[in-house]
Amino acid sequence: MVVFRVALWQSVRHLSTCAVCSMPCEVKPRFVLLYGSQKGQAQSIAEGVAEVAEEHGLVAELSCLSHNEKYNLEKEKSPVVFIVSTTGDGEPPDNALRFVRRIKKKTLSTDHYKHLSYALLALGDTNYANFCNCGKTIERRLQELGAKQFYATGYADDGVGLEVVVDPWLDGLWKAIKGALSKMASDRTGYLKGEAGDSPQETPDSSIPDVQLNLLSIAERQNCESVRASVEPVSKFASAASPSASATQTAVSDLRPASPAGSPGLASQSHGDASVSTSAPETKTKDTGVPHVELAASLTRSLPPLSESSLNVPALPPLYLDVSLQEVDSVERMDGLLNKDTLYEVSISRAVQLTRGDSVKMALLLELDISAYPTITHQPGDSFDVFCPNRGTEVEDMLRRLGLHEQRNHRVHISLRKDNKKRGAQVPPYIPQNISLLYLLTWCLEIRHVPKKAFLRALVEHTGDAVQRRRLQELCSKQGTADYNLYVRDPSLSVLELLSAFPSCMPPLSLLIEHLPKLQPRPYSAASSCLRHPGKLHFVFNVVEFPACSGRPAGRRGLCTGWLFDLINPVLVFPGKAESSGSPALPKIHVSLRPNCSFRPPSDLSVPFIMVGPGTGVAPFIGFLQQREKERQENPEATFGETWLFFGCRHRNQDYLFREELEDFESSGTLSHLKVCFSRDDQEEEEEEEAEAATTISAARCKYVQHNLLLHSQQITDILLKRNGCIFVCGDAKNMAKDVNDTLMDMIKTELQVDQLEAMKTLARLREEKRYLQDIWG
Ligand code: FAD
Repeated sequence: MVVFRVALWQSVRHLSTCAVCSMPCEVKPRFVLLYGSQKGQAQSIAEGVAEVAEEHGLVAELSCLSHNEKYNLEKEKSPVVFIVSTTGDGEPPDNALRFVRRIKKKTLSTDHYKHLSYALLALGDTNYANFCNCGKTIERRLQELGAKQFYATGYADDGVGLEVVVDPWLDGLWKAIKGALSKMASDRTGYLKGEAGDSPQETPDSSIPDVQLNLLSIAERQNCESVRASVEPVSKFASAASPSASATQTAVSDLRPASPAGSPGLASQSHGDASVSTSAPETKTKDTGVPHVELAASLTRSLPPLSESSLNVPALPPLYLDVSLQEVDSVERMDGLLNKDTLYEVSISRAVQLTRGDSVKMALLLELDISAYPTITHQPGDSFDVFCPNRGTEVEDMLRRLGLHEQRNHRVHISLRKDNKKRGAQVPPYIPQNISLLYLLTWCLEIRHVPKKAFLRALVEHTGDAVQRRRLQELCSKQGTADYNLYVRDPSLSVLELLSAFPSCMPPLSLLIEHLPKLQPRPYSAASSCLRHPGKLHFVFNVVEFPACSGRPAGRRGLCTGWLFDLINPVLVFPGKAESSGSPALPKIHVSLRPNCSFRPPSDLSVPFIMVGPGTGVAPFIGFLQQREKERQENPEATFGETWLFFGCRHRNQDYLFREELEDFESSGTLSHLKVCFSRDDQEEEEEEEAEAATTISAARCKYVQHNLLLHSQQITDILLKRNGCIFVCGDAKNMAKDVNDTLMDMIKTELQVDQLEAMKTLARLREEKRYLQDIWG
């Protein structure tokens, strides 16, 4: 059977003519590899696949979905692999938009892609609505148009770590592509007719584990090791031979630092025997009754079994950039943003602290003076981007850490390496020409970026100390996934923090440019209507705090929110406190508008709508209500649909944002129902306050917005299911939006007396009809 498959396999190889000797020579079988990528993750996975294809005896024809001149699916006879991410509220990435539109055309017949064999890897984030929607849409359409899937689709969740699904999916891909090539060849030649029992599969390769892990619960998914083990059994100390796209299995036990514990892998020998630890030891009594000192694990040290395990580390990403620094006579000073033309420079005309000083989170309202730009016409529901630089002290630290402080004003020259082996490699297009090193680190690269495993792998090569090398290898290995999540990903450890913890690691500047993404602007929702505040734009944000952790001796603030806070601190005012007249010069920032065409109050004023926005999620709804108030004043005769707002915070007296304004909206009738809950107020105190406010006692038991929604289930479902109304949800993506979604599902189940699946379909319909809209972040 093996021989037979090899013969068949060879029969699909193409023959071409060698340019040197004019003799026919064998070329490797090809497959088409298409990606759609917003932030570069799908692209980099696709590039990784293309790079190792040759090792698998294949040629990958890599192309971005937007370059439709480079591929032709209408005539494609080889397997096609799609790697696509999802962005925003389930939309395709910009460079996949046109492709998705094309395949969605109703005029295409059901056998349009009958000839096509495909596999698809969808990237998404379960913290956001419409998980992997772009991948799912492409898949649905391919199938509707007759294409055949040759390998189970992978749905990778950035919420728990893409690699949980991506790694096993890639591991199984090669076998699947070869199977598909065989099958396609046999279909073409009829070679295998009658060879029952050895015929290639009709259905996706069933020997390949089902990697549709999105069907597993979060808890199950977090158990990465067991998921992987089920996909690719790797013997404990074997050096895995088969290379794969993202994880070339390299035995690195030989790189382990000499351990007094003895031979690698003998857990019982070395346990607790390990070298020194500076962390506080924990004393435990083991079964033997002998007190046993267990050292604490940290970013820089591991414990058995990891510290004794052989490791499967990712393939070393190929270097592709040459970077040189040139001393120039007169370096232009570049302290601000370049390419400002497309941005608006606006001054901050007012900054107010909305929360009390003892509140856990600090929420600030900033007012921007946009009067100089009549073209900024924002609507409630729009957001806008704030452009912020990296923190000056961190840029200086980074320069010092790289040993480049003296060259900070040198001009950076970046080109592709002559021996570049990375397919599709390019000089990052977001780095302008002729900039100084200081400018590069201040405005172009996200130096707070949390290093991905591929970056850690690359750092190993530049780390002198054996113990540190081993730890970096662990952190990027399959076996070290839990540690990677615990010490790097979850605390959002930055590259600089990592480099500080591994002092013998001295990466070249080119490596940082290859691995750090573009410094992104931060979006904020407009919290005002231009009908109420012409020439002004308000927004509200919490100053994000990252606590100290292993690898971060002191806490730090979020990049943009920390920067804004420093900027406005001298002019900050507090509610109820008179603003000083001789205020200092107003700081200026750069912004650009990001219109949101669907997160808007209904244009039909009679449509009822519900707003759910705890914390700073209330921001767009202030704009909604300011606009509604104006509309009511201007159209006294019109019929207005009822409006509900569900707000929540910790304490009534500490962080109830816009309390006065919201209560005024309610008393004026602009807001028909204001439902507020406090998650940390004492129950009794709460009930007293609620009694004072003459609202129901049961309302006092609500902790979170979803509890309040449930309490008003009847009215809400009535608005959504019978009165064609809308629901808007804004704020924290991680918990709140999911809880609200689950609650809505329960409410629909009860109201319509249907099962989970039907309730899900009803919610999906509401989304499709743009009557269930989310604007969530976090
Ligand atoms: P970074 O240094 O970039 O750190 C980011 C990390 O901070 C994230 O990984 C996450 O863990 C955490 N984080 C992100 N947002 C928050 C948050 N709001 N509270 C606590 N932790 C957070 N934020 C607002 O405060 N108000 C808004 O009106 C608002 N509107 C947004 C609209 C859109 C369309 C989007 C996509 C995001 C919006 N955000 C809003 C989030 C905002 O863009 C930033 O992500 C946030 O202010 C943190 O930026 P940073 O640079 O300070 O943090």
